[in-house]
Amino acid sequence: MHPATRKAIYRRLQAANADPTTELLYTSPFELLVAVMLSAHTTDKSVNTATRKLFPVANTPEAILELGIEGVKPYLKTVGLYNAKSKNLIGLCRQLIEQHGGNVPDTRESLEALPGVGRKTASVILNMVFGQVEIAVDTHIFRVANRTGLAPGRTPRAVEDALTRNTPDEFKKNAHHWLLLHGRYVCTARLPACPKCIIRDLCEYPHKTRPPALKHSDAPIAHNSKRRSPIRLK
Ligand code: SF4
Repeated sequence: MHPATRKAIYRRLQAANADPTTELLYTSPFELLVAVMLSAHTTDKSVNTATRKLFPVANTPEAILELGIEGVKPYLKTVGLYNAKSKNLIGLCRQLIEQHGGNVPDTRESLEALPGVGRKTASVILNMVFGQVEIAVDTHIFRVANRTGLAPGRTPRAVEDALTRNTPDEFKKNAHHWLLLHGRYVCTARLPACPKCIIRDLCEYPHKTRPPALKHSDAPIAHNSKRRSPIRLK
């Protein structure tokens, strides 16, 4: 993709949503860490359903540790893989207390050493809490980067490296959110809503959805003409 095209894509995404952020609900770095960790292989909506109940009861490492694995399970039942995540959550709280004074650490190494925290979660925390320019790649971003031609790659890490290399500096901080939202609401997995996509003339995907097929699209924007792309979060 030509650098000018890449820049034009980000400019449009920025114009549609100048201040993107996560759809996960949180009020502190610790709550964000827990929410992002829980969001692996499940939807933000199911995580929010769980944390809406959990955080009013316990929203510090100490309070959650006190609940214990069996104590957090009832709160996490809406979340996929909640048995394993309950165990990880308690391990994460214990490690934060024992090794970081109950605070969220600010290095990738320390974050990735926490139970249940992988590269993507660490990147989100480094970006959103500590202002570091990191582009976390999830399933939506992987798909959008490949389809559009923004940053083709066979693995999430290859896409992340390509995005880090190719994204103009001015867009790096928000690239993760723009691409994630675009993938979630417009450029969906099964049948993207290309006729309603604000970057369709810039996107290099050769198999764009044609207007007659739009009604079959799994993209929320395909069925809501008032929505712009990407959807605002709050
Ligand atoms: S034109 Fe279609 S394939 Fe390209 S980014 Fe938009 S929705 Fe995705």
